[in-house]
Amino acid sequence: MVSIRYENIGVAYGDFIVVENFDLEIPHGTITTLLGPSGCGKTTVLRALAGFVEPFEGNVFIGDNNVTLLPPQKRNTAMIFQNYALWPHLTIFKNVEYGLKLRESDELAALKSPWYSRFLWFTKPYYFFLGKTHSRALKYLQEAKEEFYSKNNGKLKGLKWYTFIGFRWIRAISNAINHYLREKKEEVDPKWAYRRKKVLEALRLVHLEDQAFKNPTQLSGGQQQRIALSRSLVVEPDVLLCDEPLSNLDAKLRKELRTEIRSIIKSLGMTTVYVTHDQTEALAISDRIAVFNIGHIEQYGTPTEVFTDPKTLFVGQFIGISSTLTGKVITSDTVELDGGEMVKLQVKANIPDGEKVSLVIRPENVSLTTKSESPIEIEINTIEYLGTEVKMTGKLKDDTILLLDVVEQAEKYAQMKVGTKLTAYIKPAEIFVFVGTDRVY
Ligand code: ATP
Repeated sequence: MVSIRYENIGVAYGDFIVVENFDLEIPHGTITTLLGPSGCGKTTVLRALAGFVEPFEGNVFIGDNNVTLLPPQKRNTAMIFQNYALWPHLTIFKNVEYGLKLRESDELAALKSPWYSRFLWFTKPYYFFLGKTHSRALKYLQEAKEEFYSKNNGKLKGLKWYTFIGFRWIRAISNAINHYLREKKEEVDPKWAYRRKKVLEALRLVHLEDQAFKNPTQLSGGQQQRIALSRSLVVEPDVLLCDEPLSNLDAKLRKELRTEIRSIIKSLGMTTVYVTHDQTEALAISDRIAVFNIGHIEQYGTPTEVFTDPKTLFVGQFIGISSTLTGKVITSDTVELDGGEMVKLQVKANIPDGEKVSLVIRPENVSLTTKSESPIEIEINTIEYLGTEVKMTGKLKDDTILLLDVVEQAEKYAQMKVGTKLTAYIKPAEIFVFVGTDRVY
């Protein structure tokens, strides 16, 4: 397990500077997500770690090694991409094995074939077809067995010679021959055996070892991405890099796969850098999140920290769903909104009267039933009934939109008409208050 350190790096494409004076420390064994809107530079930072772009200043460290100028293949990182990047003409097995062939580990390099293996060249074509021939033979056998029983209605009439030997025996003999030949092959070609073991182990991790001899085109998107993950893991990289790996999948699969990916990575304890613009995915998969905004990090912390304690207006608005209301402080614990409504804050703020503030409010913290000190008149703008709750938007006097999640009496509110006037209550304790871009409480 290794940690990662970006030290004051700058990366540019031609004259266009994407990041400058960029610092970040990623602890070993964590899944750290670079989260931010499209075009803010997260992929560029990931690519600088992989070695696909070279910083014009600063250093990148993987563990204690300064890798800034190392080519990608010398960094012991592996990457998974949005579009899987599998070879369509190779089987799943060969796709996963490919990385192992490219990057021969010391362990693999140390394996030597016995001296007599060079005289066994004539067995090569046989071994080439071995796996397929064996599985095909078993398939024919199974078909013959089914045909026999269906013709004879399960009775032992019109026996053929092979029924005397017994299907079970034929299968056992075939398996034994196959097993013997494999053992011999492992003896004369230990590198092949090593690769085979590693590939099957990696496929087992993603629960796809039974699909090893299919082509990627025969698998679903989710399965293909699991193969891509297994291909990255097989080389036992120091660092795993994931560039929006779930973006091509539908919502349900994305949810399933992110849980699976997290549990596989955590079981291996691999340091992982994960890029996404999907905040829910980031919250679910990460140990730490670096929230990006155009070339710099706004906040770096655990998912709970960035969600419950946003330090800047950008983070408050980007993480979670929220409404932003603007106004000015009129006494230390009251804000007059631009439309004239009054909102009480729980804590007396040390903000001078007349200071402009932004209030970020999550929809679950606005209620129609539980009263608070901050009643606000709204006019229903949209209503979405989702079974257990109603998602509603309401217009304030100056047409600012306030989001509400209505759980109590959801059915009653779902029947209401757009344009109806209601009183909504904001929970004072749950309001994030910002002066400029910084949170004051
Ligand atoms: P996305 O989520 O859309 O991939 P991102 O945050 O990962 O966005 P980057 O891909 O790092 O953003 O791009 C950052 C900026 O650099 C963008 O403005 C982009 O247009 C620009 N950029 C990216 N790649 C290149 C390139 N090869 N040449 C020139 N400009 C590039």
